[in-house]
Amino acid sequence: SDDYKLVSKKWKVKPTSIDLGDGIHIKDGDMALMAGPCSIETEEQIIKVIDHLKATGIKIMRGGVYKPRSSPYAFRGLGLEGLKLWHQHAKAAGIKIVTEVMQVSQIEEMYDYVDIYQVGARNTQNFNLLDELGRVDKAVMIKRGISGTIEELLQSAEYVFSGGNEKLILCERGIRTYEKASRNTLDLNAIPILKSKSHLPVVVDPSHGIGIRQFVSHMALAGVMSGADGVIYETHEVPEKAYSDGQQTLDFHQSALLADQIRQTFALR
Ligand code: PEP
Ligand code: MN
Repeated sequence: SDDYKLVSKKWKVKPTSIDLGDGIHIKDGDMALMAGPCSIETEEQIIKVIDHLKATGIKIMRGGVYKPRSSPYAFRGLGLEGLKLWHQHAKAAGIKIVTEVMQVSQIEEMYDYVDIYQVGARNTQNFNLLDELGRVDKAVMIKRGISGTIEELLQSAEYVFSGGNEKLILCERGIRTYEKASRNTLDLNAIPILKSKSHLPVVVDPSHGIGIRQFVSHMALAGVMSGADGVIYETHEVPEKAYSDGQQTLDFHQSALLADQIRQTFALR
């Protein structure tokens, strides 16, 4: 049964457009590019990534300051101080910020420094977090759970939407399957299905979706042809030295090439 209502197309036919200000939107019939490192690492890195995004015409920067890591010994992010530093540089450059919020207590402290709160795949069903994000006046991007169904993603979106926050974006980032040749299995099927069931914009994350640098562009372009309204991917000046997810991170040359290919592919759609 469809245990969601407000996020469904039956409830609202007109596609939801997310307005981030300064003429930047995430919406049906458009192509939003979001790129940046897995983790925000240093001020120099922030500056280098922003320079790359500006040169490439990408208006939204991704990066984690609170990192959900499988091992407690792995780098867990720069936290709020890192976010404030990042925000200073991004704001000066006219770049918007999408970053993960991991718990309710972080929502308020992050508020002034983010443009989109990201709910990570490990928190898709953190219903307290979703409830609280429903009370916030700021865009939220919900990633599909690691083993989550399409229906569960829509139900998670319903939590936020029914709480009063309609600025929602859905993200397909791959799911856990029996296949071990890739980190996750990017479920391209989810893109047209989500678009047909919901009025919310849908973004694809090919980096986590396949987890292999060499093939990130293939999956990004497949996502575009599947109807995605945006692509979020990982890029770093020296991917091999990234604090996290280097194996799936594009260097700036590969990123610039992909951004071009995405725009060309989108134009063919
Ligand atoms: C990320 O975007 O770096 C991330 C941790 O993503 P996910 O929650 O999809 O694993
Ligand atoms: Mn990552």
